[in-house]
Amino acid sequence: YYQQMQQAERLKTTGELAAAVAHEIRNPITVVKGLLHLHNEGDEFADKKKEHFPLMLNELETAETVISDFLSLAKPSEAEKELLNVKSALLNVIDLLNSYALMDTVEIVLDIDDDFYISSTLIEFKQVFINLLKNAIEASNQGDTIKIRVRKQHKNIKIVIKDTGEGMTKSELKALGTPFYSLKSKGTGLGLMICFNIIKKYNGTISFHSEKGVGTLVKVTFPSV
Ligand code: ADP
Ligand code: MG
Repeated sequence: YYQQMQQAERLKTTGELAAAVAHEIRNPITVVKGLLHLHNEGDEFADKKKEHFPLMLNELETAETVISDFLSLAKPSEAEKELLNVKSALLNVIDLLNSYALMDTVEIVLDIDDDFYISSTLIEFKQVFINLLKNAIEASNQGDTIKIRVRKQHKNIKIVIKDTGEGMTKSELKALGTPFYSLKSKGTGLGLMICFNIIKKYNGTISFHSEKGVGTLVKVTFPSV
């Protein structure tokens, strides 16, 4: 099954997004506030500290991630566009992801033969591919390999990310791009929104092919320079 993202249609206004973000942050705050009240009232729940404190930290971390994801959506990077070497930028991203504990069990392989260039900022390019690769890693099984293949196609640079992870059903694919749509317990559902926004800004395209239980292929193109 194939899904070409209709980025412009899916994007909400910053105002609508802000309202949704406020809602997403209120939940963790409510949990933390409730637990703090409990411990503030006396020592009755002292033995629950070991259980409650990690929970509170976890809730605060979720709120923090939602905020930083939202900020990168609402406030686009002001960095100047540059002539970006796709190979070194991708190697940079892979290095970064290799430092994640997650990466012990998943390998990322880069297949690129030439020095291709696009016009973008490094920070935004990295944001796109960190988000896409993180999703691929999170969907993968132990020992899986994620393949990144870069080719020139007509006047575009095509970057394909292929994972052999859990894949998506047709309806899951259709939901991509809906803010806060996430099937993960710790997901924000903002990662792909960030990707779509940046790719659109640089006149690129993104499409998804996926099959439940087989894997996912994400195809991104940027105009070549
Ligand atoms: P998050 O990763 O925080 O959940 P994203 O916007 O990055 O938010 O992704 C939204 C959802 O899209 C994920 O929760 C997941 O269900 C689905 N998804 C994205 N990429 C993949 C992939 N490579 N394989 C399987 N599912 C994916
Ligand atoms: Mg994600």
